[in-house]
Amino acid sequence: MPETSAQPRRATIRSVTSPRSAAQRAPASREAVIQVRGLVKQYGTLRAVDGIGFDVFRGEVFAFLGPNGAGKTTTCEILETLRAKTAGDVRVLGLDVKRESDAVRKRIGVLPQDFNAFDRLTCRENLAYFAAMFHARPDLDELLGLVSLQGKADARYETLSGGLKQRLGVAIALVNDPELVFLDEPTTGLDPRARREAWDVVRGLRARGKTLFLTTHYMEEAQALADRVAILNQGRIAALDTPDALIQRYAPGQTIVVKGGAQASLPVKAEPKGQDAIVHAPTSKELSSALVALARTGLGLEVRTPTLEDVFLHLTGQALEQEPAPKPEAPKRRRRAA
Ligand code: ATP
Repeated sequence: MPETSAQPRRATIRSVTSPRSAAQRAPASREAVIQVRGLVKQYGTLRAVDGIGFDVFRGEVFAFLGPNGAGKTTTCEILETLRAKTAGDVRVLGLDVKRESDAVRKRIGVLPQDFNAFDRLTCRENLAYFAAMFHARPDLDELLGLVSLQGKADARYETLSGGLKQRLGVAIALVNDPELVFLDEPTTGLDPRARREAWDVVRGLRARGKTLFLTTHYMEEAQALADRVAILNQGRIAALDTPDALIQRYAPGQTIVVKGGAQASLPVKAEPKGQDAIVHAPTSKELSSALVALARTGLGLEVRTPTLEDVFLHLTGQALEQEPAPKPEAPKRRRRAA
């Protein structure tokens, strides 16, 4: 703890509220469009997916949240019919992903993690190309409008920013008018503004009745977009529910962030997070007594509503990486993942 004088500085207390969770919206239907039971994926000796099971319901945004290597992409690609499972039962839109893979592919849309389109083609030309691959005849202007790319219809792909490229990727994933859309880490590497614009696109798709399966390692993203979240850790589902229910169960009450408190010896139990320390106060009584005790340290205090980050900390004992290093430019691929 830093030296405290007889007249400590007044602690500054700031209150922060969490982003509005998608769980506050109207519930989706209970028709399961994805059914997974006992799914296992083994790579040699590594069990990347370790016997998971879950349902995704029509019309919902379902998020797989977890750190790098948790098994998100592996699961996603098994659902998309791109990877073979080792064991388990996986049905997408009522179809078996192995025996009926062609039928599944016709009815889903995929934005793969390393999406790339044709550099020298315009947005409209890229869309037309992928639509032709699906023998689909979508209204290209409508598709471009859905992702707010009307003004870029005739811009070559190579001239677009990262955020605009991802939005074209979403439009390409929609050329066959899919019922179910997979977005694998759609905002990784995007700046905060582009990320929020991408969130608006996701919300727009949900409003049109699409079911969305999203993988992300951004807790804020899962909290802002998802009706339900599965927290994946080391190939297993650690918890699955609405963001609000997860917070109620695993991180009720309030969280106090003690600014610069990581190295201080504090009068209450705290967990370090970067430079700061996190104090969890499940009840209002515990909150006020912790605030009184912490105020004497003279450190800045911030009271905030717990988030999925606190849930993740509770379940795994580790903080989830928030800003991964930007991915290197993916090699150009001349195919769509599904
Ligand atoms: P990220 O956020 O980094 O994409 P993830 O949660 O999507 O991570 P996966 O890509 O599914 O995780 O990987 C899960 C584990 O399986 C990791 O340890 C990864 O190294 C390993 N893995 C993935 N693909 C293969 C493969 N083709 N062969 C061997 N191991 C693999």
